[in-house]
Parts: sequence; C-alpha cells; structure tokens
Amino acid sequence: LLCVSQDFDFFYFVQQWPGAYCDSDKNSCCYPTTGKPAADFSIHGLWPNYNDGSYPQNCDSNNPFDASKISDLISNMRKNWPSLSCPSNDGESFWSHEWEKHGTCSESVFDQHSYFETTLGLKQQTNLLKALKAAGIEPDGSSYSLENIKDAIKEGSGYAPWIECNEDSSGNSQLYQVYLCLDKSGSNLIECPVFPKGKRCGSEIEFPTF
Ligand code: 5GP
Ligand code: 5GP
Ligand code: 5GP
Repeated sequence: LLCVSQDFDFFYFVQQWPGAYCDSDKNSCCYPTTGKPAADFSIHGLWPNYNDGSYPQNCDSNNPFDASKISDLISNMRKNWPSLSCPSNDGESFWSHEWEKHGTCSESVFDQHSYFETTLGLKQQTNLLKALKAAGIEPDGSSYSLENIKDAIKEGSGYAPWIECNEDSSGNSQLYQVYLCLDKSGSNLIECPVFPKGKRCGSEIEFPTF
C-alpha cells in the first residue's frame, strides 16, 4: 500500500495586505493581468502544519494543479486570491504553487475543488478589513498599535491572529500577513496551537495604503 497522504495537526490560513507586499523593499510587485485588485486583504494560502511548528510540503506529485477542476471558482479566485508577483500574471502559477506545496498535504480532507472553495469561504468569514475598520484602523499609511490590531481581528473573527510584518522601503515595520488557524478537519477556525516563528513586529506598525 502506497500511502501519500501525510497527517498534520491544523492549518494556517494566511492572508496578505497587498500594500505591504508592493511597497516592501524585498519584492517588486506587478498588478494582475486583470487589473489592480481591490484595496482588501487577499489570500496567500491554507497550509497544513504540525503542532511542533514544522510542516509537510509537496506531498503528492501525482496530483498537479488542474485549473479545469476549479473553473467555477476562477472569477472568485481572481478577486480574492490574486498574485502580485512579477511578471504580471493571472494568478494560476500562484494557485498551482499553493496547491502543490501545501494543498497536496491536505488530501486526507480536501480535493482541489474543496481546498480552494474552503479557503475562499474563510476569507469571507474572517473579513479582516471590516474588523479593522470597525476599530478605526484604516489602510491610510499611519501607524497603529499591534495590540489594537490583534484585538480588532480577534473581536471580528473570534480568534487571536498572528501578525507578520515586513518593512517598507524606509525601513518601517508594517502589517503584511495575518495568520489564523483552522482545525485539521478543515471545518472550524480554532485558536492557533502554535504561532509561526518569525521576527517581532514592534509595538506600533504601519498600515500602508494600497
Ligand atoms: P517565508 O520564509 O517567506 O516566511 O516563507 C516561505 C514559505 O514557506 C511560505 O510561503 C510558506 O509556503 C512556507 N512557510 C513558512 N512558514 C511556514 C509555517 O509556519 N507553516 C507552513 N505550513 N508553511 C510555512
Ligand atoms: P509560499 O511558498 O510562501 O507559500 O508562497 C510564496 C510563493 O508564491 C513565492 O514563490 C512567490 O513568488 C509566489 N507568489 C506569487 N504571487 C504571490 C503573492 O501575491 N504573494 C506572495 N506572498 N507570494 C506570491
Ligand atoms: P506580548 O507578549 O507583550 O504580547 O508581545 C511582546 C512582543 O512580541 C511585542 O512587542 C511584539 O513585538 C511581539 N509580538 C506580539 N504579538 C505579535 C504578533 O502577532 N506578531 C509578531 N510578529 N510579533 C508579535
């Protein structure tokens, strides 16, 4: 018996702020072929993880990304899961990378269609921008307390997030990615069993415009 599906403990659901991807000194950014995305958080991925902080990847080379399996989701994907990498593209290479690196490790719960559909649903459900705006936290280029940002997301989503920061070209720490966690059945948000290793943000961070 050939067993390709590895077990895992939970998922990270990771969303990115496009303004911080684009103004960082590390990336250049290119708007999708379909145009500049809305000024909203967008999906980075849904990543199986172990409780000890490690994670499986590239679990099944026999199940490559196949856009024809998600044709009914493509317009939603373009809106909510755009790729900002260069050169300008329609997102398929980003989706393919995410499925093959992370999604294939969740085959015990998802096929390609349910993997992408579930992830799109989580973005709706968590509505980060609405949660932040409700607390007066806007993508206006000013700085906000990390604690207030985390509290607002917890208030809106019900769960404590982990925030990943990056630096703009002047070296200011800014809101880049938001991590929430999903149980291993892929059905419910949960408190994260462990937060990703990463640099501290600092107590005040910029929320850049996009
Ligand atoms: P970076 O080194 O930029 O933080 O992450 C590079 C890539 O490694 C991410 O896009 C993601 O695919 C993977 N990665 C980084 N940290 C984690 C983690 O804690 N859990 C999982 N599952 N993947 C991660
Ligand atoms: P990860 O391996 O960290 O899950 O995904 C990062 C990979 O996806 C990198 O190879 C990166 O170039 C590519 N990528 C394409 N579009 C985007 C995007 O909009 N944001 C991020 N963070 N990575 C993207
Ligand atoms: P505390 O444990 O007092 O909440 O946070 C101590 C320090 O840990 C903060 O000043 C901040 O730099 C870092 N920290 C707290 N929460 C987060 C987070 O969600 N992401 C990152 N990157 N650092 C954090």
